[in-house]
Amino acid sequence: MSFDLAARLAARRAENLYRQRPLLETPQGPQVVVDGQPLLAFCNNDYLGLANHPQVIEAWRAGAAKWGVGGGASHLVIGHSGPHHALEEALADLTGRPRALLFTTGYMANLGAVTALVGQGDTVLEDRLNHASLLDAGLLSGARFNRYLHNDAESLAKRLEKATGNTLVVTDGVFSMDGDIADLPALAHAAKAKGAWLMVDDAHGFGPLGANGGGIVEHFGLSTDDVPVLVGTLGKAFGTAGAFVAGSDELIESLIQFARPYIYTTSQPPALACATLKSLELLRSEHWRREHLKTLIRQFRQGAEQIGLTLMDSFTPIQPILIGDAARALRFSQLLRERGLMVTAIRPPTVPAGSARLRVTLTAAHSEAQVQLLLEGLADCFQQLGTEPSHA
Ligand SMILES: *Cc1c(COP(=O)(O)O)cnc(C)c1O
Repeated sequence: MSFDLAARLAARRAENLYRQRPLLETPQGPQVVVDGQPLLAFCNNDYLGLANHPQVIEAWRAGAAKWGVGGGASHLVIGHSGPHHALEEALADLTGRPRALLFTTGYMANLGAVTALVGQGDTVLEDRLNHASLLDAGLLSGARFNRYLHNDAESLAKRLEKATGNTLVVTDGVFSMDGDIADLPALAHAAKAKGAWLMVDDAHGFGPLGANGGGIVEHFGLSTDDVPVLVGTLGKAFGTAGAFVAGSDELIESLIQFARPYIYTTSQPPALACATLKSLELLRSEHWRREHLKTLIRQFRQGAEQIGLTLMDSFTPIQPILIGDAARALRFSQLLRERGLMVTAIRPPTVPAGSARLRVTLTAAHSEAQVQLLLEGLADCFQQLGTEPSHA
């Protein structure tokens, strides 16, 4: 046989990089059952606790009763229905952009936007720590592809000097594995100085960031001119599924014409758009979730620092604990799990070699008492692990 898959899998195992899928037997929430074990979990991206919200579920039910279940066709054929259109208008309003375009997943929104905007003869410049879907999009586009140092506008400016053709600068808004936020004012300034466009994927910023949950562009007060291409995903703080690109009328019309992952796929179920419309309303108007989340983040950071854990520079719900070695991160995660706590170990290639971490995520559905339980578990397991976390 020509494919030696067994050897590849064995090598993956030997490097402590083998992936397994925990089987979730409950809805998302702080208290879950995974592989038959009740656990207190700190690893989903449902930052506002809307994935299992009764009003969102009811909107989904009512939507299915009215619109059926399947999207039926692509948006350009006969799959673009009333709820999709209404959701696009609501997303444009949330982002303060003229228009928004709904995609089926964030991965597809990123592939679609980048490949529609740049190609051979053009340039894509990306932050080194961008989400995999953005890196894949850049490579697939056929444009000259280059990475700049993490969140470093000077490093970007140097690469912009050598850029040719239409130039797209691409960054995560909140970095998904680190929790820090992009220095958008500086990046936008550098991009504009060279006539480049800035594209921001704010998958983790919508909901938690901004006074009304409008994410990093609301946080910094940046216009369409500063950030011409704004991507958000709906599977995180919105608690549903799908994604969107927001921007000018010309941008959206261009994506409808040229973004292949938009054109050649069936629209999402209309009932899903009904559910998202409800979660968007809760996300915008019910500020207490953002406030509560901020309290939990403060509590967690204070407690973790007292224990002596290495935190990252983050004020967002993503609060990774840097471990370094993949095997140690995995062991730490296992010790926590034995105590009924679920925190995922994130290993290469998702993060750079030598920077394995426990990715703690907090949500508005957690209580202060639950965060206290996490801190107690972390203290005990950290002690049991013995030596200090190694920076590699
Ligand atoms: C999750 C994520 C995506 C992918 O979105 P999906 O809708 O899950 O496909 C894209 N970008 C970033 C930064 C993400 O964290």
